[in-house]
Amino acid sequence: MHLSRKVFMTAQAPLVLILLGPPGAGKGTQAKMLENRVHLPHISTGDLLRDHIRQATELGQRAQTYMNQGHLVPDELILDMLFARVSLKDCDKGYILDGFPRTIPQAQALQQQLKGHPLPIVVNLDLSDTEVIKRLSNRVTCEKCGTPYHLLYSPPQTSGKCDKCSGNLIQRPDDREAVISKRLKVYHDQTEPLIAFYAEQKLLHTVNCAASQESVFTQLLTLITTKT
Ligand code: AMP
Repeated sequence: MHLSRKVFMTAQAPLVLILLGPPGAGKGTQAKMLENRVHLPHISTGDLLRDHIRQATELGQRAQTYMNQGHLVPDELILDMLFARVSLKDCDKGYILDGFPRTIPQAQALQQQLKGHPLPIVVNLDLSDTEVIKRLSNRVTCEKCGTPYHLLYSPPQTSGKCDKCSGNLIQRPDDREAVISKRLKVYHDQTEPLIAFYAEQKLLHTVNCAASQESVFTQLLTLITTKT
């Protein structure tokens, strides 16, 4: 049976998938591919924050300074925003979290919210710092539809333009080299401890992201299918 069909037909409880991993590991790309295949919404706290910035909301204005410097946005700003999003109807059957949780208190807040129903599937997308720097410094995104490109590995057909919608391709302000090293340090200090946190609860799976996008995707699909 086609994997996506099996996921859909066998999933009784909602499915909450958490993608952990350093910036640039491909969490957003994999989450988008999974969203299309298993029809669960991809919830990226980074995207939610960037929407707030675009709409110049108070939250967006407060978050922007932290983001541009490569710092984490304080938990109290993130938690309400995330829980409001996952309480929407489209998350009833579950959702795919990308970029959340990023701190132990965020993970504990999510645990309290879920109360063990369901237990999340947690996947650490593992990638070395050297590869992170190579990936992020060459990453561009369509400003219109959000499609990601990599100037070395998956360049657009026309330089500077999105293949799908012809929107302009831009580099995120926090993908500049000076900010990348800050983000990596923040990742190691504040987010990496989540690996041990979820390993202790026997919820952690690891996928090596140095492999091709397709291979990582297949491993994720297999994992979801066998765990539901
Ligand atoms: P991302 O798009 O996931 O790489 O996130 C971009 C930036 O948004 C991060 O560097 C943080 O400044 C902020 N951010 C995203 N998600 C979170 C989160 N769960 N907690 C705190 N800050 C976050």
